[in-house]
Amino acid sequence: MQRLGVRDVRPGLATVIVGDSYPAHAYERRVRRLATRLGCHYVQELLAADVEEADAVAAVGKLAADPRISGILILRPLPPQVSEATLYRVLDPGKDIEAVHPVNSGLLALRRPRFVPSTPAAVFHMLDRYLIESGRDPAQTYAASTLVVIGRSASVGTPAVLLGLERNATVLSCDEHSHRAGLLYDCTRRADILIVAAGVPGLVTGEHVKEGVIAIDVGINAVTDPVDGTLRLVGDLDFVSVAARAEAVSPVPGGVGPITDIWLLANTLRAAWLEGTPSRDGSLDDSVGIDRFG
Ligand code: NAD
Repeated sequence: MQRLGVRDVRPGLATVIVGDSYPAHAYERRVRRLATRLGCHYVQELLAADVEEADAVAAVGKLAADPRISGILILRPLPPQVSEATLYRVLDPGKDIEAVHPVNSGLLALRRPRFVPSTPAAVFHMLDRYLIESGRDPAQTYAASTLVVIGRSASVGTPAVLLGLERNATVLSCDEHSHRAGLLYDCTRRADILIVAAGVPGLVTGEHVKEGVIAIDVGINAVTDPVDGTLRLVGDLDFVSVAARAEAVSPVPGGVGPITDIWLLANTLRAAWLEGTPSRDGSLDDSVGIDRFG
């Protein structure tokens, strides 16, 4: 007898942190809290800042081989001796919930993602919802918008560009080179929709955006409070001056972060669900992709 219907899945999430970055640990705490609340098996792999690359590779390889783990999140920043690309290649593509393994980033670029990375997915979830709730048709709005993304990392900026292209926006991608070349603020002033994911507090202020912009702040930066000396988290936007000109702004903290966490757990569940299915082996079978981005 075949049993049809939803089969039991037991999601397990592992996070890997190298060193003591305050934003990375703050992010890990949030994810751990949610995973625990949802009854997900959770493992944190904490490696010293001076870990040898071979030991970091071995730690990720061990998680990739652990049958209790369905999804792995490698938190950044990584120290200079540990190559991001090397660690990403060690991930089992079926557990690569942030789509940073070459197979998954390739599928994402081909518009047939197995996993949509959680932070850009959260950004577009928030944008799509906002456009609908403000009475606009998202498809028409994106097609008529200049979308500027600051930051080009493998798990945030670059997939945000791809998700913007998927929605037919006119997309400008900027990074530190654009800034050094004096091009950054020419781009931000053209943005109808601005996504900032650079990790530089106060990078964009009100004078760098046009009236009526919709701005999403992804940055998480630890700054020392000048009054009481405590550490607190801020984004990349100068919130007050940008908010004075914007139609809508998402703050940090309290913006995309909580939605990101939910997407990450949803991707973990998806990874557990895909386990043992033919699409998990990285083949380009059509069943690998999900129908729509974000
Ligand atoms: P990253 O360091 O890997 O990449 C940063 C990108 O920003 C690079 O492309 C770099 O060239 C660019 N950049 C740096 N300085 C710049 C400048 N002065 N002008 C223009 N571009 C500049 O970081 P990441 O992992 O992409 O994360 C970006 C930020 O988002 C960080 O603050 C990180 O903590 C945060 N983050 C937030 C969430 C969330 O859930 N909200 C999740 C992941 C990362």
